[in-house]
Amino acid sequence: GGADVECDMLVLGAGPGGYSAAFRSADLGLKTVLVERYPTLGGVCLNVGCIPSKALLHVAAVLEEAQHLADCGVTFAAPQVDVDKLRAHKEKVVGKLTGGLAGMAKGRKVQHVQGVGQFIDPHHIEVTAADGKKQVVKFKNAIIAAGSQPVALPFMPEDDPRVIDSTGALELRSVPKKMLVIGGGIIGLEMATVYSALGARITVVELGPGLMPGADRDLVKVWEKKNAQRFDRILLATGVTAAEAKAEGIEVTYSTGEKEAFDLVLVAVGRTPNGKKIAADKAGVAVTDRGFINVDAQMRTNVPHIFAIGDIVGQPMLAHKAVHEAHVAAEVAAGEKAAFDALQIPSVAYTHPEIAWAGKTEDQLKNDGIKFEKAVFPWAASGRAIANGAEEGFTKLLFDAESHRLLGGGIVGMNAGDLIGEVCLAVEMGCDAVDIGKTIHPHPTLCESIGMAAEVAHGSCTDLP
Ligand code: FAD
Repeated sequence: GGADVECDMLVLGAGPGGYSAAFRSADLGLKTVLVERYPTLGGVCLNVGCIPSKALLHVAAVLEEAQHLADCGVTFAAPQVDVDKLRAHKEKVVGKLTGGLAGMAKGRKVQHVQGVGQFIDPHHIEVTAADGKKQVVKFKNAIIAAGSQPVALPFMPEDDPRVIDSTGALELRSVPKKMLVIGGGIIGLEMATVYSALGARITVVELGPGLMPGADRDLVKVWEKKNAQRFDRILLATGVTAAEAKAEGIEVTYSTGEKEAFDLVLVAVGRTPNGKKIAADKAGVAVTDRGFINVDAQMRTNVPHIFAIGDIVGQPMLAHKAVHEAHVAAEVAAGEKAAFDALQIPSVAYTHPEIAWAGKTEDQLKNDGIKFEKAVFPWAASGRAIANGAEEGFTKLLFDAESHRLLGGGIVGMNAGDLIGEVCLAVEMGCDAVDIGKTIHPHPTLCESIGMAAEVAHGSCTDLP
């Protein structure tokens, strides 16, 4: 049959991967169609992920900072939280960004075809709108950027508003008295931070031996110390094995056999790729048992004119990884020489304090048997950290023992997520300890701690306060 729309490039999914791929494709001269089920562009990241969570975390941070000021002689009245207004603020932040994306798509003549896309064959996709109307898009090349969704726990009561995932948590319907966060990873702890700042009493339960899997333990320890009083309980090496909806709350059973009831239960146990929901097999694209799509360094699937990027191609499921993969896929499709060849992909937990790491972690270097030098600069020796009331933090750099090149680094403390950017650049540029140590950093700043750590590494720490 014929097609309703024809294009050079079909992009499936309008998250950070998809919109970046579509924009780069259009900039490179390809006629581009972006298929997205939702009316707004931006995917998980803009609508129900990175951005709304940071809008709420910012408010939580200011609330906490205000408390810190009591020690400085400034007191405020107890905060009054108007959840409806806070939600409206968050929606305004999201709206500004999705509106911006719509404008950018229009400016580039990227056509948004709204609906759920399912492949028909290697050159056609059917898009079904919410009203059931179907359109067929014919394409020369395609980039699959269909993302991921939260993993559900099968034993949780269904359709009970007291059981939510990260999307539900960001809807911020109300602030519960007593909340359980299942999963002590980044998303779970960010949401725990928000809800506790808004006044909820929180228990976190994590199946693994420690919180924030993937981060070095010394970084996490600082977070734990600062947050020890904040939560009712943090249960490690503990699972939730059953749950029952009762009038007084959702009663969960822990793997220890103990039962406890909560007003709200957030399930944040990971995300699963959407690979099995797009009829990829009709296009000949192979999908793994878990729903991932394997790609090569040029982001090609097993079908050479079909690419895949973002959460659907694997870990780490992060927006900045999706964006970079998107650019590679679009450039390769447009005939340019490009490949995904990152030395590092940073991770950030925007908790209080923040935890950020880039390049190799200390644990990875140990596991890989790589000889390294570790340099730590404690923020208790940083004038700015003390002035900011943030002296619990530290900056750690990991250098190759022979070449002294930076292999990775971790930062815990205020603004660690912003500070890690320098570590990212230094790893990619192959900087050694002298390059970083001899770079003049502004004083007094937190980024100075990176220069100081590098000086520690070559044994000539300055005595700047
Ligand atoms: P997605 O953003 O998942 O977008 C996929 C899009 O495809 C969706 O809009 C979906 O509707 C659409 N789609 C899927 N299937 C179809 C179909 N068949 N037809 C039509 N449309 C379809 N990452 C960070 O880097 N930093 C953070 O701070 C951060 N915070 C997060 C906080 C939360 C609460 C969550 C849940 C995630 C967070 N992430 C963060 C992860 C980040 O959101 C994802 O890595 C990122 O959105 C992945 O982008 P993507 O383009 O692969 O897919």
